[in-house]
Amino acid sequence: MPETQSQIPETIPPPEGSPAPSTPALACRKCGFSLEGLAAGASCPECGREIRPADLNPDEALGATIKRMGPAAWLAFAWTVLPGLLSVPLWIRMPVVADWFRGHAPGSLGLAGFGLLPTVAQAVLAGFAFGIHVGLAAALTGFVGASLVGYALARRAAQHRVEAEIERRPRFKAVRDALVGGSFWKTVGIVALVRTPPNSPFALTNWLLAATETKLLPAILGTAIGMTPRTLAAVAIGAKVSSLSQRPETPRWLIAAGIASVIVVIIVIGWIANRALDRLTRASTPTPDA
Ligand SMILES: [Zn+2]
Repeated sequence: MPETQSQIPETIPPPEGSPAPSTPALACRKCGFSLEGLAAGASCPECGREIRPADLNPDEALGATIKRMGPAAWLAFAWTVLPGLLSVPLWIRMPVVADWFRGHAPGSLGLAGFGLLPTVAQAVLAGFAFGIHVGLAAALTGFVGASLVGYALARRAAQHRVEAEIERRPRFKAVRDALVGGSFWKTVGIVALVRTPPNSPFALTNWLLAATETKLLPAILGTAIGMTPRTLAAVAIGAKVSSLSQRPETPRWLIAAGIASVIVVIIVIGWIANRALDRLTRASTPTPDA
């Protein structure tokens, strides 16, 4: 092993005449005391306020991040809130909506793409209006179309702003790369996994896929695969009820399966994310050889 000695990295002093690294004015938000040289988690020497990472790097404060993300941030907020809110009148006026739905199925399924309606309620409607087979085909086609609409909208809103936010945070980037930056089929699998739980937020997931610049083809394929079981279940529920005058009941086994799938998703995604963060930590802190 030649040259081992000379390969040991040293701290290289900055070349002479180069500008000093720019240090933003780090001041305690409460008392204004200088936080120069202190680490996150420590306390302000003057007033004792806990120092947060955002205090040392004002760029990372939530407000600054939202501002940089611009319309993408507002779209994410809208898509978090709207489907749930708008599902209330849908459930209440189900018979009226179902009548209208029969005549406008493709268009109304596409509404999910604009983040306006929850997909579960729509799948129940599709089952009620068309029966299991046609209902399932209609609902899945509608959802794949809607995910394309949502992806395109979020991509437009995000430009590359969200990607830029991810790039400035090594931990986010590591997790993103581990989840959707790998092979085609791995991405398909992850997307399918995230789409599986019945309460997986459809519009918000479209936003996430677009904002993290997940490739379109595996995203769409994973969406179709992951949404099939829950759409089938919802369509079957809708097909079984003869009248929507009362809200169709969700069978117990389906609720249990829903909870179980959420747990599986959290465990798997969490495991992949933790592994990526571990690797990142190991790569950045040289471990002494035992
Ligand atoms: Zn202070």
